[in-house]
Amino acid sequence: MNFDQFDHDHLWHPYTSTIDPLPTYKVKSAHGVKLILEDGTELIDGMSSWWAAVHGYNNPVLNRAVKEQIDHMAHVMFGGLTHTPAIELGKLLLSILPPNMNNIFYADSGSVAVEVAMKMAMQASISKYNSTQKTNFVTIRSGYHGDTWNAMSVCDPVTGMHSLFGPALNVRYFAPAPSCLFYDKWNDNSTNELEQIITEHHDDIAGLILEPIVQGAGGMRFYHPNYLVKARQLCDKYDIYLIFDEIATGFGRTGRLFAWQHANVMPDIMCIGKALTGGYMTMSAVATTRDVADTISRGAAGVMMHGPTFMGNPLACAVSLASVKLLLANNWQEKVKHIEQTMKYKMAPARNYSNVADVRILGAIGVIEMNSPVNLAAIQEQCVNRGIWIRPFDRLVYIMPPFIINDSELDTLITQLLEIIAPNE
Ligand SMILES: *Cc1c(COP(=O)(O)O)cnc(C)c1O
Repeated sequence: MNFDQFDHDHLWHPYTSTIDPLPTYKVKSAHGVKLILEDGTELIDGMSSWWAAVHGYNNPVLNRAVKEQIDHMAHVMFGGLTHTPAIELGKLLLSILPPNMNNIFYADSGSVAVEVAMKMAMQASISKYNSTQKTNFVTIRSGYHGDTWNAMSVCDPVTGMHSLFGPALNVRYFAPAPSCLFYDKWNDNSTNELEQIITEHHDDIAGLILEPIVQGAGGMRFYHPNYLVKARQLCDKYDIYLIFDEIATGFGRTGRLFAWQHANVMPDIMCIGKALTGGYMTMSAVATTRDVADTISRGAAGVMMHGPTFMGNPLACAVSLASVKLLLANNWQEKVKHIEQTMKYKMAPARNYSNVADVRILGAIGVIEMNSPVNLAAIQEQCVNRGIWIRPFDRLVYIMPPFIINDSELDTLITQLLEIIAPNE
């Protein structure tokens, strides 16, 4: 009943084969932290639909925001027109983004936000130097920035499958993933390779793009805040724009509203997405400084060269506005702290499993790194049988539940997960 033949035969799901597709489960509805399958099976969602559904599903406040907006207008073009949801959202975002941010570009997905951010850095650099020489990028390994062309070029070369796309993909500079981790004692040497690359190649480099503190889909790694301090110093010294991709880390997930706050290091350009709309719709935004924006505008093009059809979609803006307000009004810090403490305590036993390499927790993100890759189809089937929903990749089994999860739901999620991965020896 949860299986659908048409879906199996015709619909492509993320990263799946048409010859041997991964099983899919048909969802009938979702509310709170629960996904309800066609046959009535209830699953506690450990993924927040990939970082997005921080308030859970079917939230009455967010539902109302969409319903009220749709009776005014679902969409109007942003070319030459504007509207209250876009303006109000912009005001709210500027009040919570790094204080040096001044201009906002609305885009329609995380990957597009990354494209826009890279284009901003490139256009600003071209304008500033009146040359296209300083237009490459440097980043760190184990990163994930999305699936479009330029975003892919700064993803980890292995998990981002650079070799597959060969010479068609732009070649970027890669420093190793930061070796000094979040809870480690800071080691000054851990930025040596980044420094070396930047020192040697800064003449070619427009921007350094990073996921601050938490590397998501490229490795689920948490690294030391001082890495960002050093990155900022290098960017200042060599005139490189610092881009923070906070698409996954934004809106409280890491224990701070945004991850830059762990280091108090401000970027020149910042991407947000995912939880921006509370998981209701696709929307992202790129914020930048007055300096970057005006440098772009003084350039030969005279304008920022981008404009998606659905830019600033009123429904997405309205639900984002409601979602961010709801987050700020609801003790998110305490909730995330409580989830963090519970995960630290209850996931710790997995450290002793013979098949587990590491357990790490930051904010409302709990990661169990296995010794070998997990069988996704098999583990998801076991999860569904036990009433939870997760989506591991490679050796990483992780949870990042909606912030509204209660103690008994979180306990069930963790207990079932630990039983599923426990070695059967
Ligand atoms: C998910 C993600 C993206 C891409 O966002 P999409 O909405 O999937 O295009 C980019 N960067 C980071 C850090 C992400 O987690």
